[in-house]
Amino acid sequence: MEAKKNIVVLGAGYGGITAALRLARLFHKHPEYQIHLIDRNPYHTLKTQLHEAAVRKTEISIPIDRIIQRRNIIFHLGEVTRIDPREHIVHGESGYLPFHYLIIAIGSQVNFYNIPGLQENSFPLQTLKDAQMIYDYIGQLCKSAASEPVEERRRDMLRFVIGGGGLSGVEFAAELADHATQCTRDSHVNPREIEIIIVESGSRIVPGMDESFAARIHKKLLGKNVTIIPKSKIIGRTPDTATLSSGEALKTKALIWTGGIRISELARESGLKIGQSGRIIVDEYLRAESYPFIYAIGDSALAINPYTKEPVPAAAQFALQQGCLVAHNIYADIFEGVREPYHPKLMGEVVSLGRHLAVGWLALPFLKKITFVGFLGSLLKTAIQEKHIFLLRRESGKWVAPQ
Ligand SMILES: Cc1cc2nc3c(=O)[nH]c(=O)nc-3n(C[C@H](O)[C@H](O)[C@H](O)COP(=O)(O)OP(=O)(O)OC[C@H]3O[C@@H](n4cnc5c(N)ncnc54)[C@H](O)[C@@H]3O)c2cc1C
Repeated sequence: MEAKKNIVVLGAGYGGITAALRLARLFHKHPEYQIHLIDRNPYHTLKTQLHEAAVRKTEISIPIDRIIQRRNIIFHLGEVTRIDPREHIVHGESGYLPFHYLIIAIGSQVNFYNIPGLQENSFPLQTLKDAQMIYDYIGQLCKSAASEPVEERRRDMLRFVIGGGGLSGVEFAAELADHATQCTRDSHVNPREIEIIIVESGSRIVPGMDESFAARIHKKLLGKNVTIIPKSKIIGRTPDTATLSSGEALKTKALIWTGGIRISELARESGLKIGQSGRIIVDEYLRAESYPFIYAIGDSALAINPYTKEPVPAAAQFALQQGCLVAHNIYADIFEGVREPYHPKLMGEVVSLGRHLAVGWLALPFLKKITFVGFLGSLLKTAIQEKHIFLLRRESGKWVAPQ
């Protein structure tokens, strides 16, 4: 019997899980093709909700085997260590897998920009484990502060500095501000002694968003007693201090670093052509340059928006769109269909500012959009998150829920 041809998806995040499920659906009448999915974790992380898990310990992971249970997908748990595009092989910790087609969807990781002491003395917010560590540390700090009689030392323990005022930094700060009362109630510390500071290198927070939205978000954060220090960079870090480019030294035991992302070395080391932040350069069909049988999607891919000529931002909504598209394009490649070029659709931008507040806009038909600030926004944000879970359920044909 002839060996099956493998279509391998690396990474079971937003882009990868969508691609794998869509491929399984498209190829279900073609048993000569086998879909493989590889991830270092046995679960799919709802990464856009990491800030909630870091503060409130919410459930944001879904076991991959539950999602793919009813689909013809083989899941491999493990770290991918090398891609050999010439030999069509993916190498992992426990072996290798040949591929006919490959989709790289390994997301992004934190970038510490070689800032002295930062990596050793700060908490990134990129993975479920990061969120769990932050959650535990907040609890520890509150407990230690409760037994610290000297006010100044207590305040130093309760000063949280967030490096980077982008989407994730802002969402985390607001969530922490809302939750401070609860943390302090449990540990019997005065909530007024908690200080939350965002340090942002640009002239304003959420630089990727429209200026009027950024201004609204800024105002809402001030209303939650969050201090924002713009035009300032963290240039050094010790266990107790964050040094700013202005020369100011902020005393803090908790620095949460959300200041930048980069792509793992895997792409560069594999000889794929990479651009800004190590993202894999792709053509209009999302294929890696010189390798038409390798597709890259999501944060890993440097896709160019054909309308603006700008790189498509690293965001879950684009990873999801790209996951669907590459599944169709691979099917088209194999069965001589028509490949579709990628046209990113910005469905909206919603920034959650704590449990019951969000600011943003959503696209409506005929190039119209609806903007919102407040509780309605937070309901819409929840609806967007639920939609992803709903689509997973539909694609997988199985009831899946975060746990
Ligand atoms: C706190 C926070 C809040 C955010 N909020 C929003 C938001 O509101 N809206 C929005 O659109 N975007 C948001 N984002 C960005 C969004 O989460 C990412 O753009 C999105 O997750 C990218 O999807 P992806 O499929 O490319 O990668 P990911 O979802 O990161 O998935 C990558 C997968 O690859 C696996 N992997 C990586 N390397 C390897 C390896 N070597 N071997 C095996 N497996 C590997 C990982 O385990 C992971 O499962 C937020 C991000 C953060 C951190």
